[in-house]
Amino acid sequence: MIAEPPSTPDRLPITGRTRLVGLLGGDVRYSLSLRLHNRAFDALNLDWAYLPLPVSSTDPNRLKEAILGLRAMNFVGANVTMPFKEQVIDCLDEITPAAQRMGAVNTILHNEEGRLIGGNTDAAGFIADLDANDVAIAARRVIVLGAGGAARAVTHGLAERGCAQLVIVNRTEQRAARLANELTLAFPGQAVEISPWPARAQWSTENALIINCTPVGMAGVRTPSGASSPWPAPIRADQVVADLVYAPVRTSLLETAASAGAKTLNGVGMLVQQAALSFAWWTDQSPPISQMMAALEP
Ligand code: NAP
Repeated sequence: MIAEPPSTPDRLPITGRTRLVGLLGGDVRYSLSLRLHNRAFDALNLDWAYLPLPVSSTDPNRLKEAILGLRAMNFVGANVTMPFKEQVIDCLDEITPAAQRMGAVNTILHNEEGRLIGGNTDAAGFIADLDANDVAIAARRVIVLGAGGAARAVTHGLAERGCAQLVIVNRTEQRAARLANELTLAFPGQAVEISPWPARAQWSTENALIINCTPVGMAGVRTPSGASSPWPAPIRADQVVADLVYAPVRTSLLETAASAGAKTLNGVGMLVQQAALSFAWWTDQSPPISQMMAALEP
């Protein structure tokens, strides 16, 4: 009997010269970033690999040790995810001005001088996704639901680009107030307001952009009043609704918005765009965005 030829491997073999990057986080088992980056390396035939780098979050020394390990093992860089995006700042040699303003790092570059530089591609990734979907913001009121790490990145990106007005609505009002104050100091020309949770219909004007930066809509996550969508008011056809949640891709908020005839953006777009910007920073190559998008198709 003739043996079957070995099937074509999905990706290039790892060699002694493979350049390494990875994802530092508390629990990276279900991260989609591994698929995205490894597909991008394959698409460009790069001898690079993106590895899971789980770090215990119970001992504060572990993150520092992991960062020293990146340097010692000559990683080109890494992404940083929950719960380390803020804590990692103290472990690095330099922080880009944008990441410093946001107070969060999601990408590290280990440069040719051996310095570890922290940057943030979440804000620019969100704005790139708006651009890719032809959503202009200069004349829009933008309502941001949430004031955590993702909301911080999104609002900094929006304020840097400039929008008519930013309204931050968060379950814990002090957190919204702190973010609004920081934005006002960093971007004095940007109008910023806060509004109590839940969002109020009066904020929802013509053409508004509504962005969910909370986990409400993920399996099992509901608002304090038990709703599966974080937006309680009707949605108008002339509004745009973006949901950062990407699992599921079509959340209850996006279902409602789509049935009202509004334009919708799901969380996959930002996920791919922020990954593409990290990829470009590490490799100096133009990221293969369509292949990265395809890597997330079921
Ligand atoms: P985070 O820092 O923990 O912040 C969570 C925010 O959501 C806080 O403002 C919190 O309000 C609010 N919140 C949490 N549970 C809530 C609930 N049951 N009802 C109402 N508000 C609630 O998390 P994060 O990093 O910002 O992530 C938020 C979401 O964005 C997650 O689903 C994450 O997967 C997604 N995300 C997506 C991308 C992407 O590329 N698509 C990137 C980053 C994050 P309090 O202040 O009251 O606690």
